[in-house]
Amino acid sequence: MDFERFKKTQSRVLKLLENSYQKNRLVHAYLFEGAKGTLKLDAAYYLASLLFCKGENKPCMKCSECKRILNGEHPRIYRVAPSGETIRKDQIDDLIYEFSRVGLEEGVRVYIIEDIDKATPSAANSLLKFIEESKEGIYGIMTTDNLSNVLSTIRSRSQIVSFFKVKEEDLISDYMDKGLDRETSKILSTITNDTKEGFDLYNEGKIVDIINLVKEVNRAISSLSNPYVAFYKNNKVLTEDWGNKKYHQIFLDLLITITNDRIYKLLGQDEKIVFCDEIDEYDVDADYKKIFKQVDTMVRFKERLRYNVNLETMYVEMFIEVCK
Ligand SMILES: [Zn+2]
Repeated sequence: MDFERFKKTQSRVLKLLENSYQKNRLVHAYLFEGAKGTLKLDAAYYLASLLFCKGENKPCMKCSECKRILNGEHPRIYRVAPSGETIRKDQIDDLIYEFSRVGLEEGVRVYIIEDIDKATPSAANSLLKFIEESKEGIYGIMTTDNLSNVLSTIRSRSQIVSFFKVKEEDLISDYMDKGLDRETSKILSTITNDTKEGFDLYNEGKIVDIINLVKEVNRAISSLSNPYVAFYKNNKVLTEDWGNKKYHQIFLDLLITITNDRIYKLLGQDEKIVFCDEIDEYDVDADYKKIFKQVDTMVRFKERLRYNVNLETMYVEMFIEVCK
């Protein structure tokens, strides 16, 4: 759980939860909605810490209750996550059974359901009944990246709390605080809004090779030499695992980003440039219409990733067209 980052990046939600807690106005079902990476789950555990903490300044993060929450092992918090693509009815039934079993026991209990939009209709119906009959001291927090996919009956029975996307500058400083250089931090912030996912990607190692490949290909394109030669010489990172489209997606996204950087350079908008270490490589006299066309071509070819295409042929064709 990253409570510090939650407090830093979602101050509006923080205030709402703390105020409601202090004024005894917490409701029995919350629906936390917002894009991926907006720390909804961290917020759910933060709310649970407010409820369970025995310290003075709640949540103190020092008492035994807070520590158990931080370690993800609090016995009175029950968490449900999709198993595969859905949340099934039996998962909700287990939750209801668990809460009925300790019905006579006093005290607060919390359940957290991740990605509630993935609940099957029968799971959602069981849950609805449970929410309606919730006894005092039971708090539910559901999360979703996709509010429009949540059943309207669930939406109407819970208090919706919206999480806003983390600002790009906050993402970048998060990466830099943990030792990454500015350019890599900027690049990662364009790939994902979730720094945890960004760090995982970075630690996996391939991303650095992909960034270098993108730079090599871009240098070839802007110096009017053959990009396929540069691509072919350095593409081991992609060819090792041709079948894994994730890396091809990232490669093409970043190639589009760096090509857009060349346009920003021409427009004098250096602050928008993502590949900022490459700034001296960009030609200030380039033909911007041609660069726009190159971006269009790349976007068009990227679409093909969705289909079953021969990637090797796709790259040959794309580079031929980019050089036209
Ligand atoms: Zn505490």
